[in-house]
Amino acid sequence: MSELTPMMRQYLEIKADYPDTILFFRMGDFYEMFLDDAVKASRILGITLTCRNKSSDGPEIPLCGVPFHSCAPYIAKLIEAGEKVAICEQTEDPKLAKGIVKREVVKVVTPGLVVEDASLSPKENNYLLALFEEEKRFGLAYLDLSTGEFRITELADQAAALAEVTCIGPRELILPASYRDPAQTKALVSITAGRALTYFEEWVYDSDYCKRLIANQFKGATPATLGCDGLPVALLAAGAVLHYLVDTQKGSAPHVTSISSYFESEHLLLDESTRRNLELTATISEGKRKGSLLGLMDRTVTAMGGRKLKQWINYPLMDLKKIVERQDAVEELLGQPGLRGELRDLLSGVYDLERLNGRISLASASAKDLAALKGSLSRIPGLKERIAGLNAKLLRELNAGTDPLDDICSLIERAIVENPPFVLREGGIIADGYHEELDELRAISREGKGFIARLEAKEKSRTGISSLKIRYNKVFGYYIEVTKANVSAIPEDYIRRQTLANAERYITPELKEYEEKVLGAEDRIRDLEFALFQEVREATAAQGERIARSADRLATLDVLVSLAELAHDRGYCRPEIHEGSELSITEGRHPVIEEMHSTERFVPNDTFLDNSENQLIIITGPNMAGKSTFMRQVALITLMAQMGSFVPAEKSRIPLVDRIFTRVGASDNIARGHSTFMVEMMESAAILRGATAKSLVILDEIGRGTSTFDGVSIAWAVAEYLHDNKLHAAKTLFATHYHELTELAVTRPGIKNFNIAVREWNERIIFLRKIVPGGASHSYGIQVARLAGLPQSVIERAKEILLNLEKGEYVEGGLPRLARGKQKSAPSPQLSLFGAADDQLRERLRNVEVTTLTPLEALNLVDELKRLL
Ligand code: ADP
Ligand code: MG
Repeated sequence: MSELTPMMRQYLEIKADYPDTILFFRMGDFYEMFLDDAVKASRILGITLTCRNKSSDGPEIPLCGVPFHSCAPYIAKLIEAGEKVAICEQTEDPKLAKGIVKREVVKVVTPGLVVEDASLSPKENNYLLALFEEEKRFGLAYLDLSTGEFRITELADQAAALAEVTCIGPRELILPASYRDPAQTKALVSITAGRALTYFEEWVYDSDYCKRLIANQFKGATPATLGCDGLPVALLAAGAVLHYLVDTQKGSAPHVTSISSYFESEHLLLDESTRRNLELTATISEGKRKGSLLGLMDRTVTAMGGRKLKQWINYPLMDLKKIVERQDAVEELLGQPGLRGELRDLLSGVYDLERLNGRISLASASAKDLAALKGSLSRIPGLKERIAGLNAKLLRELNAGTDPLDDICSLIERAIVENPPFVLREGGIIADGYHEELDELRAISREGKGFIARLEAKEKSRTGISSLKIRYNKVFGYYIEVTKANVSAIPEDYIRRQTLANAERYITPELKEYEEKVLGAEDRIRDLEFALFQEVREATAAQGERIARSADRLATLDVLVSLAELAHDRGYCRPEIHEGSELSITEGRHPVIEEMHSTERFVPNDTFLDNSENQLIIITGPNMAGKSTFMRQVALITLMAQMGSFVPAEKSRIPLVDRIFTRVGASDNIARGHSTFMVEMMESAAILRGATAKSLVILDEIGRGTSTFDGVSIAWAVAEYLHDNKLHAAKTLFATHYHELTELAVTRPGIKNFNIAVREWNERIIFLRKIVPGGASHSYGIQVARLAGLPQSVIERAKEILLNLEKGEYVEGGLPRLARGKQKSAPSPQLSLFGAADDQLRERLRNVEVTTLTPLEALNLVDELKRLL
């Protein structure tokens, strides 16, 4: 290191403390990056990489830089790329420094802790999440620094914890260092992929340290006073979040005022694949919001409302009373279209109060932010006035709980000009009449120009020099300029300052005295304005908790109005939620597909499920008939009902459901290295373990990923299990193209057959989209294939093979004897199972009545035949 300059040595020392960040090293008007950081950042940012020491003997040092006054977009881009940026400032005035200027990292910007709008999407939270595990319990703590929301929960198994993390969708993760272990890394890939990661050593997860961090952040609070002492593991995760916050933010985050805890049992549970399959907040194919349930339901007009609606979808309620309260509010708003319009108008003028509040409290808010806060708060009285007359309990509570925050509003109104500039240090922010000294200084500064003009006139007449001018430059300030020709006429009191080729420059005591006042005033104005602005910002920050409370109420109001708007637009009904077991939907529709169908009418369907005679419904019907759509619509209606929303149906009675499970065939999960069939079986196993009599289970084409006999057998046994095992006897919809399964209904009282009606016409099928009692007699696959445009010869051949199959011509393992056909040559010898001598086999086979053979009997038969070999 000996050849390094002192500055590079300083750089390397600081960098050693921030190894996994890109260090922005302040040098004058630039942030410089060196070495590996420079190489990486120049690539991400698309800026030029240069080299230091190119000519001298020292080592070459790659280098790139960005101007400090416009660094925000560069930081945003690095964050977007998943990097962390440590901001290192000069902490002493370079003019006063002896030797190298002192430098210090003042803040680390990380993906999970950004608060600048440029790096955030309005309707999405930006979470930093810590996951910690102790004695088989999984604690989760997550913070959105931009809004101050901090939540914790604890789960009993890893799968549930991972599902919860996926649902929360954090931008950045904190994990214990032990998770660096390759085996752990593999298990966690579903949550770590594409996210910024930080690992903490064991000592961070210490209960006493955690309590200290909590006391510091929450003004002396303890886990008990925060109401979180029942979640010890989650608290340790919360400690890791706070530790990270202290480490990266350096200052405090006063708007993070409490931790709220929740339990699995408070919500309708949805595992990861169910959320994905039901496309709750993103579509399966593209991962977009548009086309998902959230995309359809979101009629909110504020960013806060958008985020809250997403939470309501992710966490449907289990508490009947709370659901009914939401429904009452939606119903009342639904009945008042005019009022709804007015509320939406008012709400659409409300900025993101939660994020404004965050920036104000982190002292990164601009005067524009304060003006936006005032503009938003000024909508509150109008909103309160309009909901004041409503009766629903929730709306009355919202009204009572929304603080109009007049004091903050009028403070900003008095202090800040109508349209403040973005820059904070150049003045022009504080309104006239707010501060006496400022007003005086401004008067002096305004006066200045007039004074100079008057003084110039006075000096002209006093000296008789008509070309005399008063001028200003940065070096000498104000001066009087007289041409050489007139120098003899200058009075005694002129003091010479500078001689030019054809002029002399002078000052007078009067001029300097005035200069001091004017120039001093301008400097003073800038400083005073900034100080006053900070005072206003701090005074506002001190009211952060009140702002946060009102913001939360406004977000809820926005969501309720949005639900009413949706119910009105799409003709939804209010579901009757009850604690019993019957689920009945009259004329239900799929909310998303219904909306996408602008030309073809969506055909509504009825559903009836209970925990006795209609517990498990087998739905048969050809591909494309609408089985999957129908089952998903039942799940979505149930979920919407428990959110407190109205639902796409004419009428509905929905029991409180504790979990919804879906298993959808043919969804590959290559990312996790499992085959389709393996995933299918793992998901099925999870359902059989987790389903209760209060659950709703959707099984779509289970057992498809293996051979026919395997598939039918597994599907059959799963259905029996869900029916026979009273602890797991969930209300189940079971779609299958194995029409063999319809025989289950004969053997089990709680199983019923339904099919989606089609009409055959000239060897074609017409989809009627209507669900009717009874099983489908066959699968219509070939008709669908024709519809899809398979060549006629292939269709004909398929029909031939089907005929063979229906005659029961299987070989061992359930494979059909495909080769047998009119035009084809004889089957290959390997496929021929039976030699001429196997008379016993032939005899046994001849006696089999294929048309009545059930799949299980068929399996047993194969077994028996094998033994005869
Ligand atoms: P399946 O699962 O039986 O193969 P899907 O549920 O995937 O069939 O439905 C296929 C298509 O049929 C859907 O994409 C949708 O466009 C249409 N469809 C389904 N149900 C209805 C309905 N009730 N009314 C109108 N169109 C429907
Ligand atoms: Mg389907």
